[in-house]
Amino acid sequence: MDTSTTTHDPKETLSRYFGYSQFRPLQEEIVNRIIGGKDALVLMPTGGGKSICYQVPALCLPGTAIVVSPLISLMKDQVDALKANGIEAAFLNSSINGGEQQHIEDQLRAGKLKLLYLAPERLLSGNTVNLLKLAKISLFAIDEAHCISQWGHDFRPEYTKLGAIRQYFPNIPFVALTATADKLTRQDILRQLYLKEEDQFIASFDRPNLSLEVRPGRQRYNQLLDFVKQRKRDTGIVYCLSRKTTEQLADKLQREGINAMAYNAGLTPQERSRVQDAFVNDKVDVICATIAFGMGIDKSNVRYVVHYNLPKHIESYYQEIGRAGRDGLPSDTLLFYAISDLDMLRTFIADDDRKEIQLEKLKRMQEYAEAKICRRKILLNYFNEYHDKDCGNCDVCNNPPQFFDATVLSQKALSAVARVNERVGMGLLVDILRGSQRKEIVEHGFDQIKTYGAGADISTNDWLYYVQQLIQLGYIEIAYEAGHTLKLTAASNEVLRNGKTIKMAKADWSFAKKNDLAFAPRETKQKQFEMALFDHLRQLRKQIAEKEQIPAYVVLSDATLKEMVEKLPVTESQLEQVSGFGREKLQRYGNTFALSIRKFIVQATDMGIKKVKGATYLATLDLFESNKSPFEIAQQRQIAEGTVFGHLAKLVEDGHKLDLDRVLSNEERASVLKAWQLCAKPEEIAPVFEMLGESVFPSKIRLIIAEHLSKSK
Ligand code: ADP
Ligand code: ZN
Repeated sequence: MDTSTTTHDPKETLSRYFGYSQFRPLQEEIVNRIIGGKDALVLMPTGGGKSICYQVPALCLPGTAIVVSPLISLMKDQVDALKANGIEAAFLNSSINGGEQQHIEDQLRAGKLKLLYLAPERLLSGNTVNLLKLAKISLFAIDEAHCISQWGHDFRPEYTKLGAIRQYFPNIPFVALTATADKLTRQDILRQLYLKEEDQFIASFDRPNLSLEVRPGRQRYNQLLDFVKQRKRDTGIVYCLSRKTTEQLADKLQREGINAMAYNAGLTPQERSRVQDAFVNDKVDVICATIAFGMGIDKSNVRYVVHYNLPKHIESYYQEIGRAGRDGLPSDTLLFYAISDLDMLRTFIADDDRKEIQLEKLKRMQEYAEAKICRRKILLNYFNEYHDKDCGNCDVCNNPPQFFDATVLSQKALSAVARVNERVGMGLLVDILRGSQRKEIVEHGFDQIKTYGAGADISTNDWLYYVQQLIQLGYIEIAYEAGHTLKLTAASNEVLRNGKTIKMAKADWSFAKKNDLAFAPRETKQKQFEMALFDHLRQLRKQIAEKEQIPAYVVLSDATLKEMVEKLPVTESQLEQVSGFGREKLQRYGNTFALSIRKFIVQATDMGIKKVKGATYLATLDLFESNKSPFEIAQQRQIAEGTVFGHLAKLVEDGHKLDLDRVLSNEERASVLKAWQLCAKPEEIAPVFEMLGESVFPSKIRLIIAEHLSKSK
């Protein structure tokens, strides 16, 4: 990189290299602190924008920033992303051969790298320390810093030695970054890396662009199929509890014509990286995975995350849904909740040596799934972040539960439990209440009890929901050790004998349907146009990505594509206003995208799909660029030649660069400009027209003036 043009102002660096016009909350403070030579511990959720916190200082400070990252796949990804922004970066890990390594080390010593990524064990080897001492180091960034703590969920022993590095580089800023926030881990990071309390920056963990939804787990496959079909253009992850489920699901979805793949610990490393590559390169739509999937993948355009089963705790749930919508665009999350999952998780936990804690965590997860208040509040509270307002982007907020007097209903259910002598599980109880003819019911004579069929007017799904609430409210217990049969409690007697009233949330599944129909066919022309253009730009991006062998989201993010769809930039200066277009990307891809959008607008207008403002000028531009003369353009478009000149003038005023020597002679230019400069009011064409004896028509005068002004800009 040419260091002489390196800018030192953080804000300008942000815009020049990353194409962003503003820092997100805390980013600017952190950047300034590091540039000022101080340390920082950065806590931000996944997708919060941690990388900018050390990448911008790396660009502003002289020397090379050393980034420690535990995940090899992530290193390559990040380095690719930096290079795509025109930043000199490299990584050293086991995948690099001797020759390449030598080259990178030479570059480092020569001060040609702004960032160098290393695995922790590499940094700590004596050779590397010596190598770094010979180079100019701007800062150390420790990514995934929670790996340092035994209390964290991802402990890596190599990380505990990182603090030792500080003695060799005493005056160089250290920045540690993580998305895992609990207090113990935080204190561990501070202590081990010799950071101070006041070095901490804790961002909000809220991810308002993620919708939150929980649905009952019954017939979840069909629900999932609908959900995925409604999002056919999008990429998503479906997390499952078992390997087998991942394979079965992928298989079933494939048979529905959906591009799905399974990912689990049973795959060979080659198979795993094949799935990851397909995912990263937008070549697969749905990944059915066990929890391992997604670690170390920075794909920013994951549009939904589904939990096919209940996760073990809120930490992993939040981390997993966090993999959706890193680009900040609206993304959906869906959790299926069934009591049977809870049982399965409990049996897993049974032989965990931290059983008590795990059960407590599972209980919190269960409470979340069963909640009747804003789910985001619960999540954020869990992470010690108090929020007062309902979020408006979760199923509870969008469809608040209606409470009703469920005393009679409850009496029926509880009485049935009593009359079958507490010998049945939830499914069978509901069948009895609904008066099913199931074999077991007849065999055991359950069809003879008084409450048999007493709840036939309530659907199975609704009954399950109500029985679940009776469990939550403490009127029924599940005897896990006795075949999950339902038992009465002391409280149930209050209802059965003492007429205690019970309020429950009414079952209502219309929200789930409504939500899925949000994307339904009745789209407006505007929407159709936007979707078609988005698809078109995505295709273009994919072609570029394949050619350059980088992930599509590294070329440009979905957020950038979406902004292009909204703003319809067709010139370089318009593209510059789009977030995500830094200088390098503008230079590399600007023209391609501007041209493509322009053609799309002209075509859509021609075909009557949508009239886009300004499309008529662009149609003229297209013809002009295919070497047609104004006369030919006028004929073809059935407009006056003067109008064509007017269009050209407007195009030049808008910042398009045209080869005007084809239509203007230097004599014409000189005489028009001379007359124009003599006139009192530069914005008026008529006096010039008169002065020239009406020999040059007005739109041509306007074009000459526009050209002159664009050159002097
Ligand atoms: P994290 O490492 O915290 O998960 P990233 O650093 O990958 O998050 O950032 C997530 C996304 O947000 C990326 O696409 C990144 O380019 C984008 N981003 C970060 N900072 C900004 C900003 N100031 N303005 C716009 N987008 C940003
Ligand atoms: Zn809410």
